[in-house]
Amino acid sequence: MISAYFQGTLETTKVCQECGTVSTTDETFQDLVLPILSKEGQSFNSIDECIATYFTHDNDVEDENGDRKSIQPMISCPKCMRDKPATKSTLFKIPPLVLCVQLRRYNNSGKKIDTSVKFPIEGMNLTHYVKIPSRAEEMAEDGSSNDSYGGFGAVGATKQPYQYVYSLFSIICHRGQL
Ligand SMILES: [Zn+2]
Repeated sequence: MISAYFQGTLETTKVCQECGTVSTTDETFQDLVLPILSKEGQSFNSIDECIATYFTHDNDVEDENGDRKSIQPMISCPKCMRDKPATKSTLFKIPPLVLCVQLRRYNNSGKKIDTSVKFPIEGMNLTHYVKIPSRAEEMAEDGSSNDSYGGFGAVGATKQPYQYVYSLFSIICHRGQL
């Protein structure tokens, strides 16, 4: 029941920088834990920035001061038969009906980051972070082989057939310290 509304799937794609082998992994989630500090330690002003950072720098790690550092993504490449540097990207494969986001207000040493982060009441468009389905995937999910999507979803499609726009439903605020 809960998962029907709150669960989504993220797909992470890694490409071996040496031979171009592509590996994808799927992971289900029920909320996204968003960073609210930039790599330079500046706090973000809007949830858009938090989400953009989540998707573009999800390989970053935080040290005990909460400073974020980029680390080189690696792939255990089946063709090169060893670990190799990779490029990495993450997108929603299946966006949830109801998206829960959590702002990461505590750094690794337990210090609270008391900055304000703006968010829209309506019209948070996350289409940009949703993977464009391939024709084969659409047919697999659809369970049919007829061409019910018309011009959308053709092999090599570059157009997103749907828009994923979220409106604010509720907020939970935590006060005080850990
Ligand atoms: Zn390789």
